[in-house]
Amino acid sequence: MTEMKINLSKFKGKTIAIDGPAGSGKSTTARLLAARLGYRFLDTGAMYRALTLFALRYDIAPSDGGKLKVLAEKLPIEFKTQEDFNRVLINGEDVTDPIRSPEVNLHVSEVSAHLGVRQAMVAKQKELGKNGSIVAEGRDTTSVVFPDADLKVYLDASVEERAQRRLLDLARIGVSTNLEEQKADIERRDKFDSSREHSPLTRTRGVIVVDTTNMTIEGQIDHIIALFREVVK
Ligand code: C5P
Repeated sequence: MTEMKINLSKFKGKTIAIDGPAGSGKSTTARLLAARLGYRFLDTGAMYRALTLFALRYDIAPSDGGKLKVLAEKLPIEFKTQEDFNRVLINGEDVTDPIRSPEVNLHVSEVSAHLGVRQAMVAKQKELGKNGSIVAEGRDTTSVVFPDADLKVYLDASVEERAQRRLLDLARIGVSTNLEEQKADIERRDKFDSSREHSPLTRTRGVIVVDTTNMTIEGQIDHIIALFREVVK
């Protein structure tokens, strides 16, 4: 029944926020969940990735919080949904694949850690979500961006499983890498994202933790829809 959209009016205007570490399946889950509910999907990680891509292009150092803040405020990040898939556009350029490059992976956590960058991004995210009917995912959507979301989920999975998933995702866009490299990248980003000063990745109050290590994507979606039905009763 995964393909069926749920069009009950009681679900209109609600917000679902999903956080979790790298590779926990947030993007795929949030995207398919949004399609099922007829909601929009907000991939906040893609915004930090787009910023990092342009910082690299403009030769702005990942440590330069001042310049990054200005860029974050100006960068015209747009999402375009195509067959339930989110494309990311900057000034009309489709950057969906380049924002997943190993170079962006390497610098995105440092870029995202600056307070000014976070403030600029969170303001955009709140604006995008102000009318609800949205599934947002990232590291701080349950704690900072949408702390009053109707459903707040923390997705987790073992590092091994998350690295396997990343490997498959990257292979799909033609990036060749290996399991050990992915595990190391995931562990490095988890550590950085969880220990940073501003808006660290954390299991905030009111989140429901879902361990997806042994779940299929369809299983995850069904599980979250069941949780959503419970809270929207
Ligand atoms: O979710 P994804 O792996 O694409 O996110 C890339 C990076 O962006 C994360 O490792 C994190 O450093 C940053 N990020 C963040 N806050 C968010 C979403 C992502 O700091 N809400």
